[in-house]
Formats: sequence, C-alpha cells, structure tokens
Amino acid sequence: MADPPRNPVLNPTAPAPARKSEESGPSQILTAEGCFICHRISTWDEKYRFWFLHENYSFPETLERLTHSLGFCFFHGAQAALDPSGQSSLTFVHNVLARRVGTIISRDLSRRSTGKGSIPPFAVPDPCPACKDRDDATGRALFSLVSEIEPAESDCRTLMGSLCFPHFRVLVSRLSLPVLLRILPLYETALSSAMDALSEENDKTAGEWSIRGIENNDPLRLAHRLAAGEEVNAKFFPPLNKEKAISTFRNPVTNFLEDLSAADACPVCKEMDRAWTEWMAWLADNLPRGMEVRDLLPVCPAHLRATLRLSNRHLVAAAVRNALNLARNQVRQGLMALSPSPLPNSRKSLFRLGRLRHREERPFPEVRRSLGRPLPCPVCHRLSVARDRALLLLFALIESPQHQARFEGGYGLCLRHFSRSLLLKPSEMVSAILAEVEAARLALLQWELEESLRKDAWMYRPEAAGTEHTAWRRAVQRFSGSFGERSG
Ligand SMILES: [Zn+2]
Ligand SMILES: [Zn+2]
Ligand SMILES: [Zn+2]
Ligand SMILES: [Zn+2]
Repeated sequence: MADPPRNPVLNPTAPAPARKSEESGPSQILTAEGCFICHRISTWDEKYRFWFLHENYSFPETLERLTHSLGFCFFHGAQAALDPSGQSSLTFVHNVLARRVGTIISRDLSRRSTGKGSIPPFAVPDPCPACKDRDDATGRALFSLVSEIEPAESDCRTLMGSLCFPHFRVLVSRLSLPVLLRILPLYETALSSAMDALSEENDKTAGEWSIRGIENNDPLRLAHRLAAGEEVNAKFFPPLNKEKAISTFRNPVTNFLEDLSAADACPVCKEMDRAWTEWMAWLADNLPRGMEVRDLLPVCPAHLRATLRLSNRHLVAAAVRNALNLARNQVRQGLMALSPSPLPNSRKSLFRLGRLRHREERPFPEVRRSLGRPLPCPVCHRLSVARDRALLLLFALIESPQHQARFEGGYGLCLRHFSRSLLLKPSEMVSAILAEVEAARLALLQWELEESLRKDAWMYRPEAAGTEHTAWRRAVQRFSGSFGERSG
C-alpha cells in the first residue's frame, strides 16, 4: 500500500460543481446579469480546475495534452499558482512535464549536433487545454443560442440580452442571413446606447478611482462589460507602477543584461511587463492633456479587462468608448454591405431579379467573416514586438562569451518564450545554448519536484520542508510564464 501523503489535498468544503448545469438552455439570458455566455464560462473555468486538480490531472491523456501545449497558458497558469490546494496535483503534473519536455529538448540537441536536425520540437505548441475546454464550452453554449435565435418567430432582443461584443462576434459568424439582418440593427442600438450613457459621464468623476468602489449598475461598468465581457482574469496584470515605468533615457541593453543574470524570472517576461506598464502609464499621463491617443488604446478583451485594474476612470472610459465605437463601426459596415442597393427600374425584370438576388447574397460570407475577426489591439501588437525584440537582443548578446555566461547563470527562459525563440530562427550556436540552458533548468526543476513528492511521503516526515516545497509554483511559472508581480 502506498504511503499516505503528508500534505493530503484538502477535501473542498463545497460539493463538486455539477457539470450538467451547463446544459440548461440559453433562456437563462433573460435573468442572468451581464453576458449570458460570459456568465456560463466563468463557472466553467472553476469546474475545469476542480476536475483537473481532483480527478483528471494524472490521466495519461491529460499529461499528453499538457506536454504538447507546454503546460497551461499564462492566465490559467497564474490562476493555478494562486490556489494552494493544487500543490500536490501540480507538483505531480509538472514533474512529468519537466522530465518529458527536458528529454525531448536534450534528444533534439544531440540530433542537431550530429547534423540530423529538422524543425525543432515545441516551436508551435498546442493550445492550452484549459483554454480549449473553455472554448468548447463556449461553442456549445453558442450552438444552443443559435438554435433558439434562428426561428423566424424568436425574440432576438430578449434572447441576446446583453451579450458582450467578444461573444457577439463569435455568434454572428454562425448565423444565417435573415437572422443577421434582424440582429445587427439591435446590436448597433445596444452599442449606441452604451456609448450615449458614457458620454453623459460627469468629467468631475474622472481621475483616480478604485474598481472596488464601482457599482454594478455604473454606466461605465455596464459599457465595459459590453465591450470586453466579464473581467475574469484581470487580476493577473500588474497594477500601474509609474515610478518603475518612467525612467528617463534608459539603456535597454544594460537593463536587459541585468534581467539576464537575475535568477527570479524570465527576462523576456520582465521586458513585456515593463512594456505594458510604460505604455499604460504614458496613456494615463497624456490622455488628460488632450493628446490624440485613440490609435494607442487597448482594444482586445484581455487588455480592456486589464485596464480596469489601473484604477484610472478617465483611461478606462476612453478605452471603453473607443472599443465600443470600433465595434459599432464594424457592425454598421456589416449592415451597409448587406443592405440591398437601390436598383434602377430598367433592371427590375423577373429574370434579372433572380440573378441579382444571388449576387446580393455574395457579401454575406464576407460580412460574417469580417464581423467574426477580432479588432486589432495596439497593446497586443506592442507586447508582441517587445517579446520578439527582447529575444533578438538575447540572440545578439549570447554570441559573446561574457554575456553567454550571464545567461547561463540566470533564469534562462520560460517555456513560452523558449518556444517563441525557436520560431525566430536563431543561429545554430545560439539555439544550442538556449536548448542546453533550458534542459539544465528543467532537470534541476524536476529534481526539486521529485524531492517535494518524496518528502510528502509519510515515512519521511521527520525531514524538515525546504524550498522544494514551493517548487510547484516555480514549475508553473517556468512553463506558463512569470507572473510574480501580477498576482496581487
Ligand atoms: Zn460574453
Ligand atoms: Zn489557458
Ligand atoms: Zn517568459
Ligand atoms: Zn490586446
């Protein structure tokens, strides 16, 4: 019989969330506050975590999926690392991941040294299983909504409720032309009235403000919800630290070299944190001065939610107004493209009408596609540039032996950024160093995780717990990215 674990997983006081509640129909939209789909998805994340931590984590197929996805995404990793009840399951999972991923990287390294290398493994990891699960649940919820909304006699206005724009976009990409023509004007009105409510905002309320104090029926809150959906993951972005952000005339190479030799977190994650803070601090400073910033405001749901964390009502209102305006333009363009153009009398013969009707339907797939496409977000763009520029700087630095030694003595890279580095095609020498350092970090991490598992056994209870006790958090961070400052 196996030894009982010294730190058994605490039995949760709450009963297991019932999965079948997901099956209840979209008529919930009538009563649910905010977006019906967001509401359902927020509980789905909890359900996934519960089933993962207490049941599925050790299944071979779970471990296989997590190996191909290189663990969880940043958000699901950060969420998991905050929950101490996941310690034992996440130690087990990351022990397996560190061993498998480390072995594959080392094997690829030796294959490359013998000239047999092709595309490196992990250059394009699979999507995070928790995200995939959530997307599948969203797909099912939307499927049942589509089936209720499609009949001609359905009350679209009530069924849609206050569907957020991110979910509205996914919904319209599944609708038929007649329903789209009924729904687009309704949604255009919803967006316009949210914008009207925002423009009535008293400017005296602008400025510093805490999101804790914001009422649920605050027009800004409602408009934010419409533009971005529910703010489930907002807390994983750092609050604004202006002192850190505004350093005049900094030397990016010196700063990066400091991060390179630090052992606490991935230097590329740090650079992205800095880029985010700098960008948002600049916006917060320049917006009240009347500077034109609309082309720089965050637009994607994740960054709109993160903006809510910055405790700056003026900035949140500007970002939400801008996002709603872009959304309304997209909806209006769709409506214009679908509305039939007036026909000259001479062309209205029966024969021609048939052909024209066929022609009029042609924009429909294009409109559906363009409405389904996310709006480009300037902050996402900035962060991906920050990530790639940092990686290219890393490649340049480790060409020289003294910087290479710094990198070898530091944290290395998180698996997300190690994976990205492979796509940027570093030289053979640089890619060999990156892989060697990554494999070495994973080997050490695996030893720590094994040590933690060993000490958990009953027979080793006289041994004092050491730093290996927190190795599971470092493992999540290694795989999902660094989020030390973001979890406050
Ligand atoms: Zn939603
Ligand atoms: Zn995820
Ligand atoms: Zn990183
Ligand atoms: Zn974004």
